[in-house]
Amino acid sequence: MIIRTQEELFRGAVRIKYISEDGIKVSKMFKSEDIKAIFNGEVRRSGGIVEIKGKMFVEKFMECTRCLEEFIFDTEDNIQIFLKPSSMLPQEEEIELKMEDLDDDFYEGEEFDFYDYMLRLAESCVPPFAVCSENCRGICRFCGENLNKRTCDCAKTSQTKTMDMIIDKILKNIRKS
Ligand SMILES: [Zn+2]
Ligand SMILES: [Zn+2]
Repeated sequence: MIIRTQEELFRGAVRIKYISEDGIKVSKMFKSEDIKAIFNGEVRRSGGIVEIKGKMFVEKFMECTRCLEEFIFDTEDNIQIFLKPSSMLPQEEEIELKMEDLDDDFYEGEEFDFYDYMLRLAESCVPPFAVCSENCRGICRFCGENLNKRTCDCAKTSQTKTMDMIIDKILKNIRKS
């Protein structure tokens, strides 16, 4: 009954109290529709508290906020989480004092789906917005061209137009006076 391997741990909802206290080595990929994560580390139980510690490598399909093209964002994070039973949730008046416990998370009941949780952890490693590259040139605000793929003269043309308008105005004012 004791859960000793990652195959047993990620089989679905498992009973926390059956997780081996010797620690379970984890080296596994977690996938959903738009995210792929690889976790290398360990899951260890001590009483009702489960520690998840290791390295998380995440790849996610995202849309670049500058050029709006889809790209694969990747990141690597060190993870250390203490999963505690909800009975250990800090009382409201204690919450302010508990800022150092940001790595704590809580589970309800006796069963827990670790596969699902690892996906949520992977998701939390990804920022809500990202650019495909620091050098992304974005799209032209005049013609909508993706400037990473092609260049356009809009910026130049609009500058020339503005200059022409200014010169026109000056000439008109000169003529008036
Ligand atoms: Zn981009
Ligand atoms: Zn343009």
